[in-house]
Amino acid sequence: MIKGVFPVEKFKNIETPFYYYDVDLLTRTLDFVKGEADKYGYEPHYAVKANANAKILALIASKGFGADCVSGNEVQAAVEAGFPASKIVFAGVGKTDREINLALDHDIFCFNAESIPELEVLNELAGAKGKKARVELRVNPNVDAHTHHYITTGLSENKFGFNMEDLEKIVALVQSLPNLELIGLHFHIGSQITDLSSFENLCVRVNELQDQFESKGVKFANINIGGGLGINYEHPNHMPIADFEAYFRLFNKHLKLREGQRVHCEPGRSIVAQCGSLITKVTYVKKGNVKQFAIVDAGMTDLIRPALYEAYHRIENITSDAEVEKYDVVGPICESSDVFDKDVELNGTKRGDLLAIRSAGAYGEIMASRYNLRNLPGAVLSSEL
Ligand SMILES: *Cc1c(COP(=O)(O)O)cnc(C)c1O
Repeated sequence: MIKGVFPVEKFKNIETPFYYYDVDLLTRTLDFVKGEADKYGYEPHYAVKANANAKILALIASKGFGADCVSGNEVQAAVEAGFPASKIVFAGVGKTDREINLALDHDIFCFNAESIPELEVLNELAGAKGKKARVELRVNPNVDAHTHHYITTGLSENKFGFNMEDLEKIVALVQSLPNLELIGLHFHIGSQITDLSSFENLCVRVNELQDQFESKGVKFANINIGGGLGINYEHPNHMPIADFEAYFRLFNKHLKLREGQRVHCEPGRSIVAQCGSLITKVTYVKKGNVKQFAIVDAGMTDLIRPALYEAYHRIENITSDAEVEKYDVVGPICESSDVFDKDVELNGTKRGDLLAIRSAGAYGEIMASRYNLRNLPGAVLSSEL
């Protein structure tokens, strides 16, 4: 089987499980995304929630990206990593007063607002500081992203954003609040979107809304198309960089922009997923009547995506070339959902072998927990070895 390339010798002294980040791949991904975005003058804001490892954030900031944050701590981490406040956007349905004040103090680029009470609180807190808060309205474009139901966000009845029918009323409200400045519209239709036609449908909605508001004399300086571009979990070696060329070309072709309008996007997964692997050691191989289990030292506490979303991650035995056999790869946690995958074809596996759970750079390390009082997984960058 074709496997990823890992410095296995150097892994021998590192305590498992740990996340391994391929800095070369991350750098090539960042350069590619920036280059494609620059073709059209689009501004990418990395979605910090996908991976907030401080060294990864610093690298992404150094490549000229902005940051998309969903908590006050993410805003703080982005600032500390070197993202200019003028490139930080802040979304989320439940921003607390403390988080809003922190973001106002940093003078971030804008708040992506999601409800009327949030707008009112934002107006009040900005006023108390003698500031004007820049606001984009997050709109629910009612576009089906054809993705997992847990990660679709753009359908009309859910907790995120404003419905299109209410938007004229909301725009009027923002215009009446003295400490808010309406600077744009924000959209995010879901995650792990591999069918680009969903993004085409988003463009159609954006164009309709722009026409509707133009006829009322309202123009938006910024259009934020969110994140959501998917990656190839099945074949991380064939497709290490997502097709940002087609992604940006699609928006350039279908978005009808107004004079001077800026386009922002918020990729998360597609930036960091493929550069990361969870490296875990086989503790035991247990043979049942029909099945055999590779019991590894990583569990759902280290990488929860398979247990939480039934997500698929490719698994490779990176220390064996023995003949391929089938294994259920399971963790040590006392939960029957603590299974990374079943009937996995691995090179013949024994106690002490290292497995790489691939495409784990996004929503991996950051979602780790200490359930069962386990240690948090480590993290190692290829540049540190
Ligand atoms: C999670 C999120 C993103 C990033 O989504 P990906 O699928 O990881 O690209 C972007 N914008 C917002 C508002 C989000 O909540």
